[in-house]
Amino acid sequence: ELKIAPSIKDDFDDDELLACAENLENVPPEILEKPKKTKERPNNPLFKYRRGVLSVSDLSAQIWCEQQLLYKFLYPFVLNDDGEIKRVDDKPHMLRGTSLHLERELEIQIKISIECKTREDSYGVRLLNMIQGINGILTWDKPNERYITREMPIFGNMYGGKLYFRGIIDEINYDPRTNQLEVVEFKTRASKTAPRPQQTYTHEVQVNIYRTLLDELIQGRVDKSLYFERYNLEPTTPLCDSVRNEYNERGFSNVDTLENAFDLLTKLAFQMPTITTNGAIEYILQTDATWKHRKEFHRDEHHLEQLLLKSEPFWLGTREPEGVDIEDAYKCNWCDYSDICQWREEKANEFARKKQRLN
Ligand code: SF4
Repeated sequence: ELKIAPSIKDDFDDDELLACAENLENVPPEILEKPKKTKERPNNPLFKYRRGVLSVSDLSAQIWCEQQLLYKFLYPFVLNDDGEIKRVDDKPHMLRGTSLHLERELEIQIKISIECKTREDSYGVRLLNMIQGINGILTWDKPNERYITREMPIFGNMYGGKLYFRGIIDEINYDPRTNQLEVVEFKTRASKTAPRPQQTYTHEVQVNIYRTLLDELIQGRVDKSLYFERYNLEPTTPLCDSVRNEYNERGFSNVDTLENAFDLLTKLAFQMPTITTNGAIEYILQTDATWKHRKEFHRDEHHLEQLLLKSEPFWLGTREPEGVDIEDAYKCNWCDYSDICQWREEKANEFARKKQRLN
């Protein structure tokens, strides 16, 4: 019996729904007949499922299993054990992870609401979050204490590549004594065990991407026009009063448009005293946040570049998705799509044929 849910849920985003409409029932006709946006976008996974901007976790999911990632786009809902339709990533442990992230953020920061009227306004707020974090490091006046900022947005196309990434850095630490900048990723664990190397590997890649994106911002290697193009934003649209006031109240005057905000961000980032030195992952137990397992590691630029070269053709639609290798077949045991996975079936048939030949 397939666990894939063919019906749609009300909270489905229209564009997301259109991308997988052929696999779903009950798609409202007004969505299927929705006029196409004037801008023609390439018909590849990057634009079809992600509108030209990948999240950093898309790449980790791709490393885990590219075929599974594609199934998540095509069949985003599954039936849980109680027969309810759920988004495939809305698992209790994932929701718990999200609330733990929020708890950690609130340990050192407060959240406020800012009224936004346009997409440009909400991106203006995201840029303000980045500006605040970077300005905090630049103005830090306690020479013997570390500065910490959490949940800082980041974006960019690494090494001038064709893929564009967005993400949220869980934590950035600046130590003025050593002039070192560290990027930390939080992950939660269901049990008091160190994660398997295959899991830490995807987490390390994630941290390395954040470090590279942050460094490119600090080094002034960000393309302003590409940012506006990929996010489909109007740089000169005036920001609404509440967003402009927020900039003013934090001491950043003359920010009237998103372009002003972008220029301020790159100017401040360029004044940063150092680029990132260290990377770490902190694993915390879901049921007891006092249990921690920390892993520090060095950056491997060459490996990251190779990885991007391998992942790019899938997103650009020039090669088919690949499932896991035989030595990683354990991943299929936890996979929501194992019953319908063609890659798995082909590998099993291949294995059976080999066995037959040997006999
Ligand atoms: Fe990937 Fe295995 Fe799931 Fe297929 S069954 S999508 S190969 S993890």
